[in-house]
Amino acid sequence: MLFSRQVFLVAGLSRSGVSAAEYLLSRGAAVCLYDDAEERGVREAMEALEKKGCRIVHKEELSERAEECDILVLSPGIPIDHPLARLFRGRRKRVTGEMELGALALRCPAVAVTGTNGKTTTVTMLERIFKAAGKESLACGNIGLPLTAAAQSLGEDAIAAVEVSSFQLETLSSLRPHAAVVLNIAEDHLDRHYNMENYIYLKRKLLKNCTESEYAVLNYDDPAVRSFAEHTKAHVVWFSLKERVKGAYLEDNALCFEGEKVLLTDDLSVSGEHNLYNALAALAAAKLMGAESGAVSKALSSFKGVSHRLERVLEAGGIIYIDDSKATNVDSCLKAIGGLDRETVLILGGKDKGERYEPLFAALKRSRVVHAVLCGENAFRLMNAAMEEGYTAVTLCRPFEVAVRVACLTARAGQSVLLSPAAASFDAFRGFEERGEKFAALVKQIACELPAVGESAAAGRSDVPAGGGAEGLE
Ligand code: ADP
Repeated sequence: MLFSRQVFLVAGLSRSGVSAAEYLLSRGAAVCLYDDAEERGVREAMEALEKKGCRIVHKEELSERAEECDILVLSPGIPIDHPLARLFRGRRKRVTGEMELGALALRCPAVAVTGTNGKTTTVTMLERIFKAAGKESLACGNIGLPLTAAAQSLGEDAIAAVEVSSFQLETLSSLRPHAAVVLNIAEDHLDRHYNMENYIYLKRKLLKNCTESEYAVLNYDDPAVRSFAEHTKAHVVWFSLKERVKGAYLEDNALCFEGEKVLLTDDLSVSGEHNLYNALAALAAAKLMGAESGAVSKALSSFKGVSHRLERVLEAGGIIYIDDSKATNVDSCLKAIGGLDRETVLILGGKDKGERYEPLFAALKRSRVVHAVLCGENAFRLMNAAMEEGYTAVTLCRPFEVAVRVACLTARAGQSVLLSPAAASFDAFRGFEERGEKFAALVKQIACELPAVGESAAAGRSDVPAGGGAEGLE
């Protein structure tokens, strides 16, 4: 890309848009900015960039100014079939994304991680492992540190652990990871990608540039991911909880890699089958990047998880309160309820993404969930699915604050209250972090009000702040 000779239009000024604009300015490009959001943070970010030399484009002049721009940098929050993107493509002009700019700027090798669930957890594990191995490393991409920013700070000897979402894959074409990890594929974002074929196609794009000298680290137990092996030139390395595959697997209660025991499962600090998958994927990718087993074992045994992912926020009056606000689709909620070790009152609901909820209620009937409190924009769709499946232990109540209170009052000593909504948060919150924080604040307040309830512990379990900057991806 000849930065200094081209005019870029950066559309969508959340975290990655700001980073893209700053990167382009540093390369001598002319940069126009467009965002129709009225949010104060966005307006302030645009004004700060204007002072550095960017030009703000207003809504009424957008089509006129767009004609003067050569390349559109589309925020991951804006779909690829948005009229602005169509306008650029119609003029045979390039449409790209912040991550694509970052991929072109990156000087060091990368491990890239995609999948429906577990990306943030896995890239965080990878960053920890590489650091334990004495390497410079950053977890970046969709986790909240834009790749353009990370690429400028990482030297040639570093390793980038890049979280890649399906939204980012829409405009990504140059990333060639040394190890490309695909964790799993479940129904998600159908409101954006229309159907599973399209969603799977996008996930497979991560492997597109990999050749025989790169690695595809694939989940053997997931049929959709397993089929990716037929479509890549990369050297395939598997991970599995069910079979002794060529790659990473479980044997004698240990996480193993190609014949070597690396870590006992009991030494992992995170729990749940899904985290075993994440750990095996991280282990396989890290070993392929040359990490010593000692570093893998040290990092994974001390890693306590990421905030808002099955995070225990409080234990009071014999009730445990768990924040799994990042469970923004049915699959991640199913993982949460599948791992329950006590009876639980579950809070469900939020912004709908077009998923089917019947499988969720079918699973609830066989789970330790004793009651589901339904709230949010999709509460009635959830209710219909519950009735369809004959799951009657439900209360429908809105808004969120009322739902949390009802859940707290329903739970008895010996049970848990779990927020694992199976839906995005944007109906009522700016993101899953805000929803999780609201939940934690409410349960702390409500638990104190309850009679004969004394707070016995109020300790956050995770040691990593939540990854932000998902920019519309939940
Ligand atoms: P992502 O970055 O892909 O959204 P996270 O690591 O942030 O993934 O986890 C999101 C949600 O999915 C959390 O509720 C978490 O408990 C659950 N989860 C994590 N790993 C997996 C996995 N491998 N399979 C299914 N669910 C998972």
